[in-house]
Amino acid sequence: MGATGGISEMPQVTEGPGAADSEALATLHRVFGYEAFRGEQAEIIEHVVAGKDALVLMPTGGGKSLCYQIPALVRAGTGVVISPLIALMQDQVDALRALGVRAGFINSTQDFDERRLVEAEFQAGELDLLYLAPERLRLDTTLDLLSRGKISVFAIDEAHCVSQWGHDFRPDYLALSLLGERWPDVPRIALTATATRATHEEITQRLNLPTARHFVASFDRPNIQYRIVPKADPKKQLLAFLREEHTGDAGIVYCLSRNSVERTAEFLTANGIEAVPYHAGLDAGTRAAHQSRFLREDGLVVVATIAFGMGIDKPDVRFVAHLDLPKSIEGYYQETGRAGRDGLPATGWMAYGLNDVIQQRKLIQSGEGDEAFRRRSAAHLDAMLALCETARCRRGQLLAYFGQDPDAAGCGNCDTCLTPPETWDGTVAAQKVLSTVVRLQRERGQKFGAVQIVDILLGKRTGKVIQFDHDQLSVFGIGTDLTEIEWRGVIRQLLAQGLLAVEGEYGTLVLTETSGSVLRSDREVPLRKEPKKPAVARSRSTSGSGGGSKAKAVAAELPDELLPAFEALRAWRTEQAREQGVPPYIVFNDATLRGIVTLRPTSVRELGTVSGVGEKKLATYGEGVLAVLASLAAPAAAAPAVGDAADADWPEPDEEPEPDDWM
Ligand code: ADP
Ligand code: ZN
Repeated sequence: MGATGGISEMPQVTEGPGAADSEALATLHRVFGYEAFRGEQAEIIEHVVAGKDALVLMPTGGGKSLCYQIPALVRAGTGVVISPLIALMQDQVDALRALGVRAGFINSTQDFDERRLVEAEFQAGELDLLYLAPERLRLDTTLDLLSRGKISVFAIDEAHCVSQWGHDFRPDYLALSLLGERWPDVPRIALTATATRATHEEITQRLNLPTARHFVASFDRPNIQYRIVPKADPKKQLLAFLREEHTGDAGIVYCLSRNSVERTAEFLTANGIEAVPYHAGLDAGTRAAHQSRFLREDGLVVVATIAFGMGIDKPDVRFVAHLDLPKSIEGYYQETGRAGRDGLPATGWMAYGLNDVIQQRKLIQSGEGDEAFRRRSAAHLDAMLALCETARCRRGQLLAYFGQDPDAAGCGNCDTCLTPPETWDGTVAAQKVLSTVVRLQRERGQKFGAVQIVDILLGKRTGKVIQFDHDQLSVFGIGTDLTEIEWRGVIRQLLAQGLLAVEGEYGTLVLTETSGSVLRSDREVPLRKEPKKPAVARSRSTSGSGGGSKAKAVAAELPDELLPAFEALRAWRTEQAREQGVPPYIVFNDATLRGIVTLRPTSVRELGTVSGVGEKKLATYGEGVLAVLASLAAPAAAAPAVGDAADADWPEPDEEPEPDDWM
């Protein structure tokens, strides 16, 4: 396994030897405007520039693109990028062109003339990067075209699509093994954010990359705060979460069914948070329109099934919320990973409850597939449930799942670290639940679901309790020491720990092989206390600086006095983006805007030192940015003069101490 680190907010300085390296570094500065490579980028780029194959495993937002874009710029010829994400190629190419990189794409969305133009540019050696959909490589015309130009590197993006066992399998990826045979001298770099070793090996094999060096980055995403809250009224909880912490932020809400996607989007919109649905049941035009709005507008929420999100490289997604339990940790990690690619604070939030467990267990039992498939699904679910129920650091649990070493002291940026949950000895409570299940089955030959079990424990004479004479059971009313919510919590945790199981279409509760050990008191059952008020975390969100401006939450980590400038630049950016028909982040992303308002440059040269401001963008936007900043400083001169009037709008950071607002 390779070195770790590298994806923290601050770029790490890595000093690599070699001459190719200095050219790569110069390109990083000049074209991308970045200070230093992150993590293993330098090593990967050096390796590929030297003409060798690589397999790169990095989490979303880790910085994979530079790993092939820079070799494509440094080596002679055109870098050919194979990507399944046709809908995003235009944006990817636009983003590169905004940096002054000569990029183009060929896919089915183009008309004949557009394609001809790109083909001609490629043949004439006028392209640094060419994006291709994998199905194109099946066509002889494409292969002919490629052999008429000079190729610097092949990049195979989303390489896990070659894995037949993964959920993103694309048959066209299987044909990519021919690249190495036809172009033995062109280095190939395969990239993916899918972590498991099995997928890894499958990629090596199927893409025929036996000698590729493997680069495995740390999977930690330190800027994402993980939180899992008990589910009560999920839509309302979501609304409160968004209002308290993410006003005006862009984000994704995942739901399991199309129906709940639609209802949640309507609910949010009705409550003043603009949200659009996205699922496979919508026609292609609507889906494309909603995706495009998400990329182009500031602060839109997409409510989606998992059909949405792969390859979306919008850097300023500030939250990913799950209203239903994902089926595996891999899925959860990939989905939450779409938040905070720009390295600024983001939240992975999930509401989870008893019904999630019952529903998923039922799904596995009644679902398709053979026994082995069911066992694998159950193992995935168990790992996911363990994450939900853990009383320890969530990030630690995630990293351990991916075979990486977590920080033993906890991460300090997940709900369990911020508000450590209390645990209690739930042995007796567990015995009460299990005894009720046993009695129903042994004495009455009956099986019931969680609702009835809880009603019996609480001694509630509901219609159904009376109908079945359940008030005559000896366990009737033995559980008045806990509330209904607490009992549901106990049952949920027993299910998660495998001490109780779900059966059949109605989700009735039954014992498992291990239930006996609890009933015989051979085993203790430590349980997590149901938090009365879920952990809410950060500074500004809890400081009650309520509602208002769109930029507020995005800029949450900026001192107040920098907000007007940030908002002004954001408005300017939106205007530029609209004029050019590109998403705003292609002009400058939030992290770069933050850098600008923090430095407050007064000259083009100074502006060029901000991370994310390269040569081309400086030439295109430099004067515009400085004009926006100058127009802001002006009214300050008219304001009541205190000391140096020109500086009055820019107080020293310690002038108005608000320690909570600093990170
Ligand atoms: P991935 O493809 O791995 O999800 P990206 O290539 O989109 O990640 O990179 C994520 C973000 O990090 C982008 O906004 C990118 O510009 C930025 N980034 C990547 N490498 C660096 C670096 N060395 N310094 C500063 N920012 C970087
Ligand atoms: Zn933690």
